[in-house]
Amino acid sequence: MEKLTKNSPVSKLPGIGASRAAAFARMGISTLYDLIMHFPRAYENRGALRRLSDGVPGEPSAFLLTVGTEPKNILIRRGMTLTKFRVFDESGVAEVVFFNQSYVRDVFHVGSVFRFYGRLTLSRSGPQLSSPSYEAYIPGEPLPSYVARYPLTEGLSDKVVEKAVTAALRAVLPSLSDHLPEAVRQKHDLPTLSYALMGIHAPQSEDMLSRAMRRMIFDELYCFSVGMALSRQSRTEETAYPCPPCDLTPLLSRLPYELTGAQQRVISEIRTDMAGGDRPPMNRILVGDVGSGKTVCAAATIYTAVQAGLQAALMVPTEILARQHYADLAPLLSPLGVRVELLLGATPEREKKRIREACVTEGEERVDLVIGTHALLSDKLQFSRLGLTVADEQHRFGVRQRAALKQKGRGSHLLVMSATPIPRTLALTVYGDLDVSRIDEMPAGRQRVSTFLVDESYRERLNGFIRRQVEEGGQVYIVCPAVEEAAAPEEENEISLADLLSVREEAPPLKAATTYAKELQERVFPDLRVDFLHGKMKSAEKDAAMTRFVSGETDILVSTTVIEVGVNVPNATLMIVENAERFGLSQLHQLRGRVGRGTRKSYCILVSDARGENARTRLDVMHTTYDGYTIAERDLEQRGPGDFFASAYGSSYRQSGGMDLHLATLCRDTALLQAAATEARTTVGSDPSLTRAEHVALRAEVERLFAIRDAAIS
Ligand code: ADP
Ligand code: MG
Repeated sequence: MEKLTKNSPVSKLPGIGASRAAAFARMGISTLYDLIMHFPRAYENRGALRRLSDGVPGEPSAFLLTVGTEPKNILIRRGMTLTKFRVFDESGVAEVVFFNQSYVRDVFHVGSVFRFYGRLTLSRSGPQLSSPSYEAYIPGEPLPSYVARYPLTEGLSDKVVEKAVTAALRAVLPSLSDHLPEAVRQKHDLPTLSYALMGIHAPQSEDMLSRAMRRMIFDELYCFSVGMALSRQSRTEETAYPCPPCDLTPLLSRLPYELTGAQQRVISEIRTDMAGGDRPPMNRILVGDVGSGKTVCAAATIYTAVQAGLQAALMVPTEILARQHYADLAPLLSPLGVRVELLLGATPEREKKRIREACVTEGEERVDLVIGTHALLSDKLQFSRLGLTVADEQHRFGVRQRAALKQKGRGSHLLVMSATPIPRTLALTVYGDLDVSRIDEMPAGRQRVSTFLVDESYRERLNGFIRRQVEEGGQVYIVCPAVEEAAAPEEENEISLADLLSVREEAPPLKAATTYAKELQERVFPDLRVDFLHGKMKSAEKDAAMTRFVSGETDILVSTTVIEVGVNVPNATLMIVENAERFGLSQLHQLRGRVGRGTRKSYCILVSDARGENARTRLDVMHTTYDGYTIAERDLEQRGPGDFFASAYGSSYRQSGGMDLHLATLCRDTALLQAAATEARTTVGSDPSLTRAEHVALRAEVERLFAIRDAAIS
């Protein structure tokens, strides 16, 4: 047989033909290496054995049972064979049944002992195990406690994946080189790659699994950070358009307020970056809590670029937000001679054409600032001198999209704005290749949004409170975690990777936006105007619903978290979050920031029936803390960095920056996260092109991981 290597296609494995290979390919697996890097989604705990008499019907459990009768094959109808036999332990007897697997008759013999794993059901003839998993038990040879369950796709079963992974491990591990430099591995007491892969796929103990996970988490973040550091470095080879810091007085004198100290500071950081003189372009993120006044900082940045004779593009995630920015910025900038245009997907084609032409002309007619959504990414839009790109509420844009827009002007500056405070300990990792400016001060005179935590027993009072807010002229948001009724709960006895790293709590049923909106409208508030909004609606429908709320046509908007992003409705005074235990603290903080934007006293009410200690403590943070950073730090400690990757890279955060992050987002060990990022910077700092012998394997791994290879690797 041909010798298998890590680069061999999976089709070379026994039992993997063209159709299974195609199924693997759908999951992004083409080589043996891809396969062993395909991690389980959960583990069955078969180590906790139950006696038959303790079996809970319907709940998957493991049993150690002796075969009591020879298996019989029974043809029940054409094409359907049942195989049945009896098994027992000291507590009782049960029947095992297999469908269309007549070969199992030769596996089980009277007196032999097996570990079975499956759901016990009660049939007329007594307890039954239907098509259980089974492993022969040989005294003195312990069976593994944890059995991996893999993410599957059509055409692949657990057994097939398990066998393929086992074969791939056997073929690849003996000659696998470890891409983590030896010194790094030793310093952080991490096991080798081979050990870790065995520990992930076939753990012999919980300790082995957790050591393996720790190594792979470090590994992921380290490679991610190395990729980011390389990308940052490749960009320093570009030379920026210089934008000398112009006089901002004409702009500032048009504002009805004074800038806060923090705003002044970040504007000056930004303008120093842009000043030029043989420097790489600015590549900066501006982070500031909701309402901290990022827009005016963007305006000052745009004004500076335009004064230097350059064009600017402002990209936002939704059409509503684009319109809102246009309505704020056009009156501010136009009188200063800045030509502003709004370009949306919905803009009529003729108008689009006119704007596109005006972006490439020279002279008086040339557009200075285009505000828009993803429509700005279209190849059809070009600029004569794009010097600045601003992306607001960046979390809905991937790194790749930012890069696409920026590429329309070589040497152009990039400013990304975000309302999600990322904990300092994580900033290096999550922002990777961006410099960070923070607005850490709110404009004076902001009211605090009073925050309460209540449970279901307050429902009546809560509804009364909603009504009062509306009667007093306010508007109400109700946020639910789901769009439709919740799917069936996950398998009981499975330990997901997340569970291994955190405490599982009993989950109360989820409120669903659409059904709840209907129920409120019909049964509770027939006289009020209730509307709903969720991410599965078409964008025109979403815009319409949001516009109705903004214009005050709607009293109560029931929605999922789609309203999280930057919309300003000063008249909204009450934010209710259902199933609050489901949300990250930072997310709750964002939602709370949707109210309290006007002069009226505002409230945020978190509704949760979660009894768990963990959920309560978590939610308690919300009514004692109003500072986004403190909340973010707490969130990181309690939930791990997953939410922050999600907020930085959008819901497809597993594809952060072009690379999959599987495990790292589950990690709650901040020291480990930080160590990986710091170590990565040191590595790239000491060997910028990763050409030293100890970095060859690392370079290959980072190239494999990053889809945007040419951008990441110079
Ligand atoms: P965000 O940072 O969430 O994008 P915005 O830029 O939308 O916040 O600003 C929120 C509100 O605060 C706007 O109405 C804006 O006019 C106002 N604002 C911004 N800066 C100041 C300031 N220095 N003093 C008072 N109000 C300000
Ligand atoms: Mg904003």
